[in-house]
Amino acid sequence: MASTLLYSQFAFFQTDYLTNNQILMKQGFYKFKLGEFECACLSDGGYSYKPESMFSNIPIDMVKEALLSAGLPTDHVWTPYTYVFVNNGEYNILIDMGAGQLADTTGKLINNMKSAKIEPESIDKILITHAHPDHIGGALDENGDPAFPNAEYYIWKDEWNFWFSDELLDLAPKVFFDIARKNLNPLKSRMHLIDKKTDLLTGIEIIPTPGHTPGHASFNISSNGDTLCYIGDVVLHPLHLEYPEWLPVYDIVPEKAALTKKRIFDMLSINDTWVVGQHFPPFPSYGHVKKQEKGWKWIPLS
Ligand SMILES: [Zn+2]
Repeated sequence: MASTLLYSQFAFFQTDYLTNNQILMKQGFYKFKLGEFECACLSDGGYSYKPESMFSNIPIDMVKEALLSAGLPTDHVWTPYTYVFVNNGEYNILIDMGAGQLADTTGKLINNMKSAKIEPESIDKILITHAHPDHIGGALDENGDPAFPNAEYYIWKDEWNFWFSDELLDLAPKVFFDIARKNLNPLKSRMHLIDKKTDLLTGIEIIPTPGHTPGHASFNISSNGDTLCYIGDVVLHPLHLEYPEWLPVYDIVPEKAALTKKRIFDMLSINDTWVVGQHFPPFPSYGHVKKQEKGWKWIPLS
């Protein structure tokens, strides 16, 4: 609970005509301290989803009612694309790499990093939650060269094997396989495949959270008693916490996703851990998860 704001807190005091959230959206980055670690949430932009793709297995009227009660539009679901930077005193670490030119509302990560005074060349380690296009689409620059030229990469072994296996091609759209292979193959010689829950780097633990994809992983970042968990796409929207049985069309192994959600969100709510969900509105997608009688509730950083 003791994370301290650095840059953005200053901005809040300077401005009285924009809300904090508007400032952060405009700025595209949010710097904070987690224990001794210097961190930032970085925006790549975002995307408007159809409600029926975000909540695919229930009647659309129920979805619209829930969106309306949450004070959200009912004809689309806007989600930010948020990634996390950590300096753990040894390395500059980035979790996920943006969507690249997936849509005209994405591909803003590199510029936002530079605005936050973080150079892509300075990134030593990249941790990958999973290989969907909005997480690895920014791996290469416009010439096809690594956008983070000095980085080593870490991914859960099952995730790599899934996207590079020809036996499971019917489990996801072909274009997703094409994008994963095109973006990850050039990084192969610098890719570490991880197959056990372990401390990857000082203060950085990889946790398997399969379901959304077969080898999806989350990352715990801990320093001096403060912990933040980057959950990637364990769920895509706060309503998935309140209604854990509502699934996006993108979940590849829903049976595993159900077990993962129970395990990780119970743990995060008991420990009152800070959480960043890649798609959680509003940017910086940062907050807490509280256990409810049914499901959990998202408490965004105000
Ligand atoms: Zn995603």
